[in-house]
Amino acid sequence: MSVTTFHETDVLRRQDPELAEILLGELARQSTTLQLIAAENFTSPAVLAALGSPLANKYAEGYPGARYHGGCEIVDMAERLAIERAKTLFGAEHANVQPHSGSSAVLAAYAVLLRPGDTVLALGLPYGGHLTHGSPANFSGRWFDFVGYGVDAETGLVDHDQVRHLARNHRPKAIVCGSISYPRHVDYAFFREVADEVGAYLIADAAHPIGLVAGGAAPSPVPYADIVCATTHKVLRGPRGGMILCGAELAERVDRAVFPFTQGGAQMHTIAAKAVAFGEAAAPAFGVYAHHVVANARVLAAHLAAEGLTITTGGTDTHLITADPAPLGVDGRTARGRLLAAGLVLDCCALPHGDGRGLRLGTAAVTTQGMGEPEMERIAALLAAVLKEERDPAGAREEVRELTGGFPPYPG
Ligand SMILES: *Cc1c(COP(=O)(O)O)cnc(C)c1O
Repeated sequence: MSVTTFHETDVLRRQDPELAEILLGELARQSTTLQLIAAENFTSPAVLAALGSPLANKYAEGYPGARYHGGCEIVDMAERLAIERAKTLFGAEHANVQPHSGSSAVLAAYAVLLRPGDTVLALGLPYGGHLTHGSPANFSGRWFDFVGYGVDAETGLVDHDQVRHLARNHRPKAIVCGSISYPRHVDYAFFREVADEVGAYLIADAAHPIGLVAGGAAPSPVPYADIVCATTHKVLRGPRGGMILCGAELAERVDRAVFPFTQGGAQMHTIAAKAVAFGEAAAPAFGVYAHHVVANARVLAAHLAAEGLTITTGGTDTHLITADPAPLGVDGRTARGRLLAAGLVLDCCALPHGDGRGLRLGTAAVTTQGMGEPEMERIAALLAAVLKEERDPAGAREEVRELTGGFPPYPG
């Protein structure tokens, strides 16, 4: 735990040593391995303090000034602060900070704009669409008729001609842009234009890039999309949770779609932590951080390419890299296992060409730790050496321990 939560950890250690050991074990794991999962980050001690605060005790169904429970006058201030900070940070007319997760935000957006059976055009799951973009295992695939667009097999870029063609043919009620693994900026103006042409709503699922948007390192979907869905825990570096941004016309419908349509009581400790994170993201240092995240990803991608991995789209505009390890003679799943044993934690992902699995990695967490170009070069060399079996996992694990030891995520 961080300095601020040592006291709580002590309390826990006395009362429930079994669980305290688990928390400390996870802190050790996060501190001594490389967190390259593109969707992860290290929140600040201030965010953790808000999450571990007595606001966790408060029931607060409804919205500030209009709650179903008494005693909400203090937590109302926390939610108003979170809303105002989100609106200012993203230049949005309205913000709803209650969604419990990115998926809950998408569910609420669909509830506002769609009826069951409506057609929706979104990035197909084999190309990096999220579960909420029409997976048969998710409510979205069960309740709506999803049509998937793809990426070009050669370039890995979203096939704009196909998007336009599918939109004209299927006349969707909504178009979703956004992905779990797309390393390039989304052309929101293009999606707006196609949506307008076919009379569709545009939903931007900006769960991944919203932190870069906050830091001025990626284009904002806010001027283009009818509804922007996001998470607060990825590059944005806040607590685990979701958020919706929209214009004034949809504000009331969005609020009703979150509560009471799809959620119950708001999690006030998480909302307070979101306010803290928005405050952090508004500071100039966060802009520096966001640009540093992208610079690190570009350096890491270039070095991985030099080591022989195939980098989808040839590079990245964001925190996110997808790479095919096949040229090193190893498939994605085997690669992930070998890397995990060496202390490099990352995910598998789909690849634009064929059915093989690739590797998805991101630089948000390692950048928060203070790593820069020399470390990216070292990580790329280590990763390649492990995949080529030039390094034994135990030796590589020792090097990761040594490297991370110089960049503790929660120093002190
Ligand atoms: C991460 C992500 C989500 C879901 O976020 P959860 O908080 O895990 O529900 C939704 N859409 C996209 C594009 C994402 O990357």
